[in-house]
Amino acid sequence: MFDTPDFDDHEEVVSVSCPRSGLRAVIAIHSTALGPALGGIRCWSYETGAAAVRDALRLSRGMTYKNALAGLDLGGGKAVILGDPKTARSPDALHAFARAIDRLDGRYIGAEDVGMTVADIDLMRDVTPHVAGTSWGASASGDPSPHTAEGVFLGLKATVKAATGSDDLTGARIGVMGLGSVGWKLAERLHEAGASLLIADVNVQRTVRAAARLNAEVVDPVRLPFEPMDVFAPCALGGVLTRDFAESAPVKMICGAANNQLATPDVDAAMWQAGKLYAPDYLVNAGGVMNVAAEAGGEYDAYSVGMKVREIGEITARVIDTARRDDRPTGAVADAMALERIEAAETGKRRTG
Ligand code: NAD
Repeated sequence: MFDTPDFDDHEEVVSVSCPRSGLRAVIAIHSTALGPALGGIRCWSYETGAAAVRDALRLSRGMTYKNALAGLDLGGGKAVILGDPKTARSPDALHAFARAIDRLDGRYIGAEDVGMTVADIDLMRDVTPHVAGTSWGASASGDPSPHTAEGVFLGLKATVKAATGSDDLTGARIGVMGLGSVGWKLAERLHEAGASLLIADVNVQRTVRAAARLNAEVVDPVRLPFEPMDVFAPCALGGVLTRDFAESAPVKMICGAANNQLATPDVDAAMWQAGKLYAPDYLVNAGGVMNVAAEAGGEYDAYSVGMKVREIGEITARVIDTARRDDRPTGAVADAMALERIEAAETGKRRTG
């Protein structure tokens, strides 16, 4: 683990194994400088144990930056359960995993991620208070995706305003890749705002429904990033922003929900040099974690979450302003802003012992 490029002085990495239920999992706490490490639990069929550890290391570091830039008093962590999501999430396995989270005494707070459902979190909540994203109880926050979609919408408007001087989306050509929980809601908001939509999804039924409901043009998923567009909104998988995209796609702006959109870190600078305005993914997709964080804080209130999500538009505008002032790529600026908060908290902690 110490030798993998994804190891970044993580504070704590825990392996969890329960032969009786078949559970195998990893919990990675990257940083608690700003508070308890909050991040989702992913269930995935990893090819090797090493691949699972690498994913937990990479994702937990990403959560540190996401939570810091979102202004949350939370650190970054992530957990992965190894196995097919269809079979690895038995009640016994989830209870065993909840006990492992409980042993960390609140240093890690888990929530839904790929392969996990609200019902799974509800089941784990019977064992530990250190999970969030539940469907019942006084402080339950439920499905985070509407908040994620709203944050992306506000980040997108801020990006368009920075590029054109107005955030009016009437007639703007916007491509939405992936019409799942977040992409569908984002596409609806964009349609209501008067945008002209191009859509792509590997699920043909979804594109057929969306085309009829949102008066959208259906495009092949491989072709979509290279269509002439004002904004490309990746809302499916990561890695879609490649060097080829940066250098040749006739796209002016990029703003979407997918995590880890940059295929390689250098694409951030390549897009900046090519005059493409990129709203950093972990900044604009933070609405969901803001919602979960409110539950983790013990006092969920939808109005306050809505106000917090509104900040995403303002932070996006600030990142773009700073990038222009310093002539630096937007991704690098967002990283620096997040790191500044984390380092200030670490310094403060050292001072107070
Ligand atoms: P989802 O699984 O509900 O939807 C994903 C959609 O993408 C599906 O419709 C799927 O068919 C489609 N898809 C998959 N592969 C594709 C491909 N190659 N080309 C085109 N479409 C493809 O997921 P979601 O919850 O909507 O999340 C979407 C993205 O946003 C993910 O990257 C996720 O990590 C990120 N994200 C989600 C949230 C949230 O609140 N759900 C929060 C932050 C980030």
